[in-house]
Amino acid sequence: MSHILDSDIKYLPGVGPRRAELLQKELGISTFGDMLRFYPFRYVDRSKFYSVREIDSTSAFIQLRGRIVAMQTLGEHKARRLIATLDDGTARIDLVFFQGIKWMQDKLRIGKEYVVFGKPSVFGQEYNMVHPEVDEATLERLQSLGTLMGIYSSTEKLKGVLNNKAFAKLEATLLSKVYDSIEETLPQYILDRMHLCGLKFALKNIHFPESVQALAKAQDRLKFEELFYLELSLLKQKVVRTNGSTGVVLKHIGNAFNRTYANLPFPLTGAQKRVLHEIRSDVLSGKQMNRLLQGDVGSGKTLVAILSAMMAVDNGYQACIMAPTEVLANQHYNGIFKYLEGTGVNVALLTGSTKTAERRRIHAGLEDGSIHIIFGTHALIEDTVQFRNLGLAVIDEQHRFGVEQRSRLWSKSEVAPHILVMTATPIPRTLAMTLYGDLDVSVLDELPPGRKPIQTVHWTETQRGKLYEFMKQQIKVGRQIFIVYPLIKESEKMDYKNLEEGYMAITEAFPAPEYVTAVVHGRQKAEDKAFDMELFAKGRANILVATSVIEVGVDVPNASVMVIESAERFGLSQLHQLRGRVGRGAEKSYCILMTGYKLSAESRKRIDLMCQTNDGFELAEADLRMRGPGDFEGTRQSGLAIDLHIADLAKDSPVLTTARSLGEEILAADPLLKDPRNELLQRHLRDVRFEMKDYSMIS
Ligand code: ADP
Ligand code: MG
Repeated sequence: MSHILDSDIKYLPGVGPRRAELLQKELGISTFGDMLRFYPFRYVDRSKFYSVREIDSTSAFIQLRGRIVAMQTLGEHKARRLIATLDDGTARIDLVFFQGIKWMQDKLRIGKEYVVFGKPSVFGQEYNMVHPEVDEATLERLQSLGTLMGIYSSTEKLKGVLNNKAFAKLEATLLSKVYDSIEETLPQYILDRMHLCGLKFALKNIHFPESVQALAKAQDRLKFEELFYLELSLLKQKVVRTNGSTGVVLKHIGNAFNRTYANLPFPLTGAQKRVLHEIRSDVLSGKQMNRLLQGDVGSGKTLVAILSAMMAVDNGYQACIMAPTEVLANQHYNGIFKYLEGTGVNVALLTGSTKTAERRRIHAGLEDGSIHIIFGTHALIEDTVQFRNLGLAVIDEQHRFGVEQRSRLWSKSEVAPHILVMTATPIPRTLAMTLYGDLDVSVLDELPPGRKPIQTVHWTETQRGKLYEFMKQQIKVGRQIFIVYPLIKESEKMDYKNLEEGYMAITEAFPAPEYVTAVVHGRQKAEDKAFDMELFAKGRANILVATSVIEVGVDVPNASVMVIESAERFGLSQLHQLRGRVGRGAEKSYCILMTGYKLSAESRKRIDLMCQTNDGFELAEADLRMRGPGDFEGTRQSGLAIDLHIADLAKDSPVLTTARSLGEEILAADPLLKDPRNELLQRHLRDVRFEMKDYSMIS
């Protein structure tokens, strides 16, 4: 029987097909249940009034009370707007409406008093308010204020159709419709022990708080529930893995490993050695390895992957090394040959652009075991790929692959292969332990010797002349330069336009044949991309203009300057990743963050931090502290790999710890959740899905 919470959102009175589509697209809300679990991201106290004079750049949603003193319509077509000027005795502010102009004109009266609610924005030298809620300041209206009101995050597209008031109204309709059907998701003994309120109370008060205390109760309960189920599902996976599956034992160290090792042009760092020992003891244990390897950019993760793969080969098993993009897969593949001499190891590359005949040959080679190590992209987890005996799967850049995709690899071979997940996005250690509850964690916390620190500076548009001068001087002494443009899904078109214009400007300022400029982005054909990439990698191009496609690992030691355009649009971890593309050679390297002159306080903080430190873990900690709860306004590029509704991993880590230890305790006593007291847990666990977020948007 289907539950009312599974009903399509279009059937909620007041929604309908058109709004349903928008809700789906913009906020991911497709059912009653999704809507119910879409919580306000903040609350405002509607008993408080601000004065117009108090408004400054930090003002969020505020409430004003004043008289309309003028109204006029300006502009034509799309730009046509109604401007109503509000005077509250301290100053004046314009209220601007692009939609519903006629309706507003009829509603508003000059000289009448109104209560206005909205978010001020800067317009030229002044503040205005676009599409505020406006109500007559009647006595009744004023008396009904004085409660906390939830503010729901929205998007530009959605705002025009559903403002906050309308959204809240939908939530109210929904609550009254489904209230009686809401079923508790936590067993009574947990509620009692943790002093949590029931789910009905929580859902009602998260949307429409009766009081500050009731809201706090609701938040406590919902945060706990969310983090508890997150931990429980991770811990449960670990139980299943360590109990259920045995792992391939990779006992021998033989020719493949030893020859590769001997072929290395440099000694391993202490950290690389330590991690290889950790991996070695995993693959000897008889249990399946599931290890996360964290290492800052440039810490030498690839080598750890290759040497681990050799352990598999020495024991008659195959290994695969999977990268998130073709460019990277190519690079890994091309990079291995210099180590292969004398090993007899056979390697191949399989990506989306591998030709059919070659693909067939590779499929056959994987099935009969003649290919020992395969490099590739997602193409590797396609159903048609079968291995003879896969012993180890390495997944580079974890966040691009979800838990589910990882587990699909297991079915590629009779025995589950060992899994090594590598990421360059440093996650504070304590958090990684908790977040990747089903993985063991290793850290490469040492860079290879001889790296010179990268000097990071922040320049604004007015310094572009100086930038070009600096670039020319660097090119003259033989260096190569990256120029990176942001690429964000929502504004892809604009981003490509920026990139194209940027490329034109560069080729004008750096004309051929004196200078060679290559360009790489997601809209190119794979061959073009490979061609330009090669041009730069081989040192024949001085400049590479790219989208953030180069973020995750391109290795060109001679490139010593990284210019990041519109740097304010990148998250901290992404900026750090990009910066890690330089500083790999012997030369002094530079990272230049270009931004407009005006920056939000948050962007400025990010940019300043980048200029202050080169330490990825330090930045990750700072990033975590700076992040607020989920907010759709502006694309969130830095963030953790799991989408949470209400809990915040930075701020709620004590709750996380409590939730985790309770989960451990329960599973220790009842690993399969068979106890009737835990029946609810087992049932609900099946319904919760934690989406892995694609958190660096890479073309
Ligand atoms: P990442 O961890 O970012 O994937 P890579 O594996 O791409 O780093 O390594 C970065 C660079 O450092 C490569 O050029 C690699 O050859 C080099 N490298 C790796 N290990 C060492 C080492 N122990 N000593 C010197 N250079 C090393
Ligand atoms: Mg790498």
